Amino acid sequence: MIENKFPGKDITDEDLKNKFPLAAKKNTNHKSIITINGCEIGGDKLAIFAGPNMVESEKLIIETAINVKKSGAHFLRGGAFKPLTFPYRSLKYNETREQGLKWLKKAKEETGIGIVTEIMEEKYLDLVCETADILQIGSRNMQNFPFLTACAKTNKPILLKRHYGASLRDWLGAAEYILYEGNNNLILCERGVSVPHTHRATSRFLLDLQVIPAAQEVTHLPIISDPSHATFWRNWVRSMSLASVASGADGIMLEVHPDPPNSAVDPLQPIDFQEFENLMQEMEIISKHIYKKSIF
Ligand code: PEP
Ligand code: MN
Repeated sequence: MIENKFPGKDITDEDLKNKFPLAAKKNTNHKSIITINGCEIGGDKLAIFAGPNMVESEKLIIETAINVKKSGAHFLRGGAFKPLTFPYRSLKYNETREQGLKWLKKAKEETGIGIVTEIMEEKYLDLVCETADILQIGSRNMQNFPFLTACAKTNKPILLKRHYGASLRDWLGAAEYILYEGNNNLILCERGVSVPHTHRATSRFLLDLQVIPAAQEVTHLPIISDPSHATFWRNWVRSMSLASVASGADGIMLEVHPDPPNSAVDPLQPIDFQEFENLMQEMEIISKHIYKKSIF
């Protein structure tokens, strides 16, 4: 039997050496700092990713880019290609796909903000790479190994969201597939896990705050937290964002929309520009106080 030096955890010394040697820390101070579009992730700053769930229109994405940048966000998030849970589409709910990518590009041209957007199919890699500074691999694709390899080979920075049923060990295994291709610009994103009681009166997912210090212990990769997708409920986004900062995350991803109740997707989830601005100020206080890291 293999001895587990970390009681209560599923990651063994053997895993660190042989299953994900590239993702594993080489010593306690080993930490990767990734620079994208002039912004450091994993260094002395807290990185902020903000924007709507879906790139709904040109006006929406440009207005959001201007506002989140003004409040200090480093990256604009937004899906032109979206993994929607059900196959039915209304006009409002429709993905904007190639058109949405063009609007994201315009938002970057007008504001200079870096773009993170989801890639769902290998055939769109070239197209998405033209616009994205960071390729987002969504939860649902976390263990699509040939897809991870194809994304890694583009050498674009990658944001790998954790599947809501994946252990830290599974997640680091997926990360290893990307690092194995020589792509070291990799960021991990916790976005909530699925546990039986979350399907009842609380929320759709449970933000796994413990995975932040757990990951910081074993991997050198930057790790960020997405409280919006985890809580699914804007009233809890503020407290869970502050808790994520306190937990030692290297960055926070937030859904921000000019008119949250009218968001085309998941309208209970996004916060508005003023709430985002207030939250940025509060995250700055926590981050500076505990970790001496600033957002700005
Ligand atoms: C998203 O960030 O838009 C998204 C779909 O997230 P996840 O893959 O975490 O569900
Ligand atoms: Mn979403």
